[in-house]
Amino acid sequence: MYDIIIVGAGPAGLSAGVYAARAGLSALIIERIFAGGQIARAHIVENYPGFPEGVAGVDLGLKFKEQAERHGAVIEIADVTGYDLESGEKKIVTADKIFKAKTVVLAMGAKYRSLGLSSEKKLVGAGVSYCATCDGAFFKGKDVAVIGGGDTALEDALYLANFASRVYVVHRRDELRGQKALQKAAAENEKITFVWDSVVDSIVGDSSVKAVRLKNKKTDKMSDIAVSGVFVAIGTMPETEEVKDMIATDAAGYIIADERMRTSLPGVFAAGDIVAKPLRQVVTAASDGAVAVYSAQAYIREKE
Ligand code: NAP
Repeated sequence: MYDIIIVGAGPAGLSAGVYAARAGLSALIIERIFAGGQIARAHIVENYPGFPEGVAGVDLGLKFKEQAERHGAVIEIADVTGYDLESGEKKIVTADKIFKAKTVVLAMGAKYRSLGLSSEKKLVGAGVSYCATCDGAFFKGKDVAVIGGGDTALEDALYLANFASRVYVVHRRDELRGQKALQKAAAENEKITFVWDSVVDSIVGDSSVKAVRLKNKKTDKMSDIAVSGVFVAIGTMPETEEVKDMIATDAAGYIIADERMRTSLPGVFAAGDIVAKPLRQVVTAASDGAVAVYSAQAYIREKE
């Protein structure tokens, strides 16, 4: 029986691992794919304190992992298939094991949102991508479109401008959601062109992307922009499918946690992008992880 099982090895889960191990708790982190979480998709993270020059997302993720392991947290790569969180003894089920713990920190994060178009689904991997850092280099000298107006879309556009001839940023309104610093950098980049008030009607192409078909929301006018790649960056959805029926969430499915990261279930805490909160950043995820462990420790102490 572990003192604490942390599900998810992004910045929240790994920070929780560091704090748990350093507090002398036996800690297991279960991760589905690889440690690092969504930042592994970030070309460069410029707003995490301690890195004045910025740091590659993948490197920051590896540093978090190294730190958690150095302090004694154990990371298991496995897909969690079931949760028993309601009783005093928590159980986390994977394909071939059942792990038991006194407390659980849910830090599964969020996954990218798709446009929900059949043409998008058909062309995934054939020009449609959700990861500019992973796929950007394939579009050297080509024209691409980025869909979205948030931080991810702007960062993706700036990164893609390193390779592509032209980057069209297609946004459904005429005002961006992303940070002012990113807006300024994108506006000043000669390779980036904004297409306002437009939504994607379909992605054109049989075996590879040839164009993106847009509908102007103000005029209803349809137009095609010839591109070889479409990068969808329209936000994220919480990874709460498996737990949403047993724990309080908001309307969008994010877990409701108080300032101590306590959820509606005793002994179950949440941290990072999976939590209903106003600011989803590496720094807030890392902070949540620390607070969640502090609260888990208090919970164990009270129980014993
Ligand atoms: P986001 O902030 O939720 O922005 C999503 C964007 O996509 C919005 O501009 C939204 O338009 C648009 N959108 C949503 N659904 C759409 C649809 N069906 N069709 C067309 N457009 C759609 O998502 P994000 O940019 O991925 O960022 C997620 C979180 O991570 C944010 O908290 C962000 O600050 C953070 N983040 C931070 C950094 C950084 O600090 N360096 C980098 C990346 C992400 P509207 O604006 O009209 O709603």
